[in-house]
Amino acid sequence: MTALMWFRRDLRLTDNPALLEAVRAGNGQVCGLFVLDAALWDAAGDPRRDHLISSLKSLRDSMDGKLVVRRGDPAKIVPDLAADLGADSVHIAADYGPYGGRRDDAVEKALDCPLVTTGSAYAIAPGRVLNGSGRSYQVFTPYFRAWLEHGWRQPVDAPDDVEWIGKQGDALPKSEPVDDAGERAARAHWQNWLETVADYDDERDRPDLDSTSRMSVPLKYGEVHPRTMLADLARLRSKGAEAYRRELAWREFCADLLHRNPHAAWKPLRSEFEKMDYDEPDDAFTAWCEGKTGYPVVDAGMRQLAESGFMHNRIRMVVASFLVKDLHVHWKYGARWFMKTLRDGDLASNSLNWQWVAGCGADASPYFRIFNPITQGKKFDPDGAYVRRWVPELAGLDGKKVHEPWLLPDPPEDYPAPIVDHAEARQESLRRYAAIK
Ligand SMILES: Cc1cc2nc3c(=O)[nH]c(=O)nc-3n(C[C@H](O)[C@H](O)[C@H](O)COP(=O)(O)OP(=O)(O)OC[C@H]3O[C@@H](n4cnc5c(N)ncnc54)[C@H](O)[C@@H]3O)c2cc1C
Repeated sequence: MTALMWFRRDLRLTDNPALLEAVRAGNGQVCGLFVLDAALWDAAGDPRRDHLISSLKSLRDSMDGKLVVRRGDPAKIVPDLAADLGADSVHIAADYGPYGGRRDDAVEKALDCPLVTTGSAYAIAPGRVLNGSGRSYQVFTPYFRAWLEHGWRQPVDAPDDVEWIGKQGDALPKSEPVDDAGERAARAHWQNWLETVADYDDERDRPDLDSTSRMSVPLKYGEVHPRTMLADLARLRSKGAEAYRRELAWREFCADLLHRNPHAAWKPLRSEFEKMDYDEPDDAFTAWCEGKTGYPVVDAGMRQLAESGFMHNRIRMVVASFLVKDLHVHWKYGARWFMKTLRDGDLASNSLNWQWVAGCGADASPYFRIFNPITQGKKFDPDGAYVRRWVPELAGLDGKKVHEPWLLPDPPEDYPAPIVDHAEARQESLRRYAAIK
């Protein structure tokens, strides 16, 4: 017996139920495959590509160098390799994204042996959390209660005694090495960070403290499974651990929503927003992408993104609100920019959070709740340290002054003036919203 394990968003050996199933089916003889699929590769930017390649190298090392990486269409590559191996089964973790579902159907049709699905990238698979009448949830808080009640299985160990079967693969594309990629680094990072989780509830909204877990990246590539994290959290009793569990549930809620509404990747969940009047992306959109809007906290966020491939959650909300409600640009352009530039770019979490900010999502922030970029900066970056760190033109300004440089008698000459007046932009947004209500 031989089994083929097709890795996708589960680049790990520990707590990987699909891999355990492959090992069982193959009596310990498993070939591990990753397909570099142009449909996904081309849509990603360098931060995601670099992380993926480093993570694949790490996975390959943990498989005695035997991971087979091939480039091309999975509907051809997977059946070809399965036939070449004489595999009795191909094993995957379920993919609930719109593209992943179509791709897996095509692979299943093209295979001469069963495609066996075990587990997913979530503690509870999308579509499983239902209310008393068997319906899914539109609103997070009741979803969260039902999600907790539903519960999840305990993590499983890595398989022992696997005989990895090697086959000719394609060379990995050239990429910048990423030090913290891969299962081992992800687990070490998580264990380290867990020691500080008690403070999470109090500090998670403060970009200047940089104290969130940064686990979105390992979760994106499946270097750690969320239920491994949930099992660790369950051993702790702090408010911080509880708050963190709730955030993991947000990730699962987004995946649940996208699974049930595949169009939500790029179209509003609330259909009245189809009629919303947006402006075409122009120079103001470019200024937003480049972090040159003249609003310090927005610019700090966009530059953090460009330079590091990451942005703090509070700041993601602020810059998203600014694009949609101050510049009146459709959220899909911002979401696309995020998917190119974020290392944790994840279709479900990204699109559903953009919809939340843009007011057109399921359990969205009301449209008229328009973030003021100045007060958000003063509240969540009270001493201005976050702005100073990412906007060097403002690094010489003290304290809160950094959030309104235009009020200074001598504003820094190399920093732009605000490209829009927030109060006017807000009124314009409300006017456009009134037209579709
Ligand atoms: C406009 C916008 C776009 C976003 N795009 C993405 C994206 O592409 N990929 C992504 O993983 N997250 C996205 N998020 C959610 C969130 O900002 C990130 O998950 C978080 O900032 C990652 O940092 P962290 O791991 O340090 O978070 P922590 O605060 O340590 O949170 C722990 C984990 O909980 C989950 N989580 C936290 N907040 C959210 C949330 N609002 N929605 C879903 N899951 C959440 C993540 O898995 C995160 O790793 C987006 C949020 C906004 C407002």
